[in-house]
Amino acid sequence: MARAAERGELRPVIGLEVHVQLDTDTKVFCGCSTDGDAEEAPNSRVCPVCLGLPGALPVLNEAAVEAAVKVGKALDADIPAETQFHRKNYYYPDLPKNFQITQYDAPLCSDGELEFSHEGDRRSVRIRRAHLEEDPGSIQHVREGPADLEARTTSVDRADYTLIDYNRAGTPLMEIVTEPDFREPAAVRGFLEKLEEVLEYLGIFDAGSDGSLRVDANLSMVSAADVRDDGTVPPDVLADANRTEVKNISSHRGAETALAYEASRQRDQIDAGREVAQETRHYNETHGNTVSMRAKEEEKDYRYFPEADLPPLRVADWRDRIDIPELPDARRERFREEYGLGAETAAKLTSRKAVADFYEQVAAAFDPDLAATWVADKLLGELNYRDRGIESVADRLDEFERLIELVATDEVTAKNAEETVLRAMLDEGRDPDTIVDREGLGVAGDDEVAAAVRAAVEDNPDAVDDYHAGEDGALNFLVGQVMAETGGSADPGTVNELLREELDG
Ligand code: ADP
Ligand code: ZN
Ligand code: MG
Repeated sequence: MARAAERGELRPVIGLEVHVQLDTDTKVFCGCSTDGDAEEAPNSRVCPVCLGLPGALPVLNEAAVEAAVKVGKALDADIPAETQFHRKNYYYPDLPKNFQITQYDAPLCSDGELEFSHEGDRRSVRIRRAHLEEDPGSIQHVREGPADLEARTTSVDRADYTLIDYNRAGTPLMEIVTEPDFREPAAVRGFLEKLEEVLEYLGIFDAGSDGSLRVDANLSMVSAADVRDDGTVPPDVLADANRTEVKNISSHRGAETALAYEASRQRDQIDAGREVAQETRHYNETHGNTVSMRAKEEEKDYRYFPEADLPPLRVADWRDRIDIPELPDARRERFREEYGLGAETAAKLTSRKAVADFYEQVAAAFDPDLAATWVADKLLGELNYRDRGIESVADRLDEFERLIELVATDEVTAKNAEETVLRAMLDEGRDPDTIVDREGLGVAGDDEVAAAVRAAVEDNPDAVDDYHAGEDGALNFLVGQVMAETGGSADPGTVNELLREELDG
């Protein structure tokens, strides 16, 4: 790296290795369940295979291969006719066999791409490869003491002892490796969000599950002069740049924070005339910083060799047979064309598959615009406020449609429907008619009558003139307009009074 004085401006270069847990029923090389919860006993979902006991043999889970092929197709990657598993050797207690079954020079997917948006711009990142492997177990470093275990959990250097849980060991993972195409930490967030959207659409990913997506983020600083106009960086510059790898980031925001920290830390190093050490660093979520873990391991350290217990895998049939569903971008486009929605609304309605499915059912029963207002603005807004997802109302489609119907037929005002009925539906789990009856909302409220009175006066200047000219029928005509506007639910006497006030006042 050139000295600070010659270097001028520096730019971050970022590439990601994303580990995604595939949401299969069983583990990737044994029949143990992948369905764990926080309450389960450690080491309760294990068998000789995922415990790495001598003589136990792996059997590949077909569902994991299918899921991986779907990911490859969604990333527009090349899938070869045949692929192969390798052993990656390293000694660490979370890996009971002392090697991880993964893929090496014949990955399931290569040369893909993912488009996403960042600050309103379309971006595209190349996917170098994506391969199938097994998740290790999980490790908890603990200090002695009376408090409960969670409170005593600490970092490795402060721990008195370490606990190991192999329940996670053998969960199918897909490692997705990008080219170093990111130029700013913030863009990484948009990428990860999009990746989760796509994975969720494929039905092979559980975003809500802890640790289901984990990121290793590589960052180096290069001279701005070396960045080409199209944002790419020549391979020799990339190869020469000293980079760090920040391990095990488990949130989108964490990725951005860790990378922003790392960019400024490396910039400081270079400005101070020091060389950036090529190393593996750990992201400390509490402090938002990164700390050095170890010198960066190299490929040769892992002594990769073919996994002899699993023969080469012919994936050609899967590749040709497996179809993937409509993905978020395509669905967004279709929503714009088919339902005439604006870009923002279409984006809001399609980022989660379950939301898009819900919307399409409502749009089949009502005007698509009205459906969009109710789902995208009102329902999602109220759910968001309550920190709830669409899943919590997915089986109450009928009730939600009934609510819109009550508004469409003027039985309840839009304001009441949103501010009282919808909120009570979400908070109490009751159906809209029950709430309308209970709250006495089945008649036009004062606000609605007042608005209808103003509208009648504004929309009918001739009748207003006639009224002032003393024509008897004019007032009755205007009363009729207000009654029609409020669906006959206003009190005619009140309407009469309000109209006179409006006209005479
Ligand atoms: P390694 O052999 O260390 O695993 P790879 O070439 O496999 O390195 O790349 C691992 C990750 O590092 C990829 O996501 C890649 O995009 C990223 N990467 C490669 N070069 C750089 C660089 N100069 N700066 C930042 N990230 C990089
Ligand atoms: Zn097992
Ligand atoms: Mg690598």
